[in-house]
Amino acid sequence: MDYVGHIFRPPSEAESLLLQVTIGCSHNGCTYCGMYRDPVQRFRAKPRETVAADLDEAAAYSRDVEPIRRVFLCDGDALVLSTDRLLEILGQIRAKLPHARRVGIYGDARTILRKGDDELLALREAGLGIVYHGAESGDDEVLRRVDKGSTADDAAGAAAMLRRAGIRHSVMVMLGLGGVERSREHAAATARLLTAMDPPFVGTLVTTLVPGTPLAAEADAGRFALPDPWGMLEELRTLVADSAFTRCRFHANHASNYVPLSLNLPADRDGALRTLDALLAQRNPRTLRPESWRGL
Ligand code: SF4
Repeated sequence: MDYVGHIFRPPSEAESLLLQVTIGCSHNGCTYCGMYRDPVQRFRAKPRETVAADLDEAAAYSRDVEPIRRVFLCDGDALVLSTDRLLEILGQIRAKLPHARRVGIYGDARTILRKGDDELLALREAGLGIVYHGAESGDDEVLRRVDKGSTADDAAGAAAMLRRAGIRHSVMVMLGLGGVERSREHAAATARLLTAMDPPFVGTLVTTLVPGTPLAAEADAGRFALPDPWGMLEELRTLVADSAFTRCRFHANHASNYVPLSLNLPADRDGALRTLDALLAQRNPRTLRPESWRGL
């Protein structure tokens, strides 16, 4: 397989074939993100022949070694490819990987909105099963500060569009992204946004200062400070308490989280709040995942 730069994928795509169809991120502007800053990852689409050769290699593996059942299209916002090109890739996956049951992709709110209902429906019918979307915050001030390039309304609109198309939606939000200064506003607005989006999957990440990013430089200059672990847990508590979901698999078990949680909401809400309240009352550092075990 041809891979350029570091390859990132959602935790739930660990078993998937990682098919790199674009390199980097078309936005590449979020101040906290260090994923695609290497010049080798300058945003571009992979050449058709490279993707086709990767699919031929995967087809041989699927036929001779073990069936490939899931495919994840990389990199950062591969949904930004034209719908015609994505349909071509999905058609090749169907033809060459007959056991593949689901194709996933990263997509941001602007890209989803730009596609529109008809194009998303066509993508779903061609096999696109799930879009992973970093909404990050429901607070427009936080989104503006981190140069997310989209608003909370954009994220809610994108969620509605995916639901109409029948594409599953997995939403990531970032604890601590508003810093100490906007921690309460960030958590409350993010709970409101998650309620409006009502996605079937939510994952929380704890904001980490990545060296070389503008957010790390702001922190070095004293203009941004992350909440401490208890502040992060307060935000998590707000999300669990105030988000109203129809039926959501809610994960706070990414390696960056201080306390791993995996919940079915709303069923597990009260139990989770009891756990979080007990942790927040004790404030015992030994109940937290050690810093050395936490990862990006
Ligand atoms: S859209 Fe995603 S990949 Fe691109 S810069 Fe922002 S966080 Fe990073």
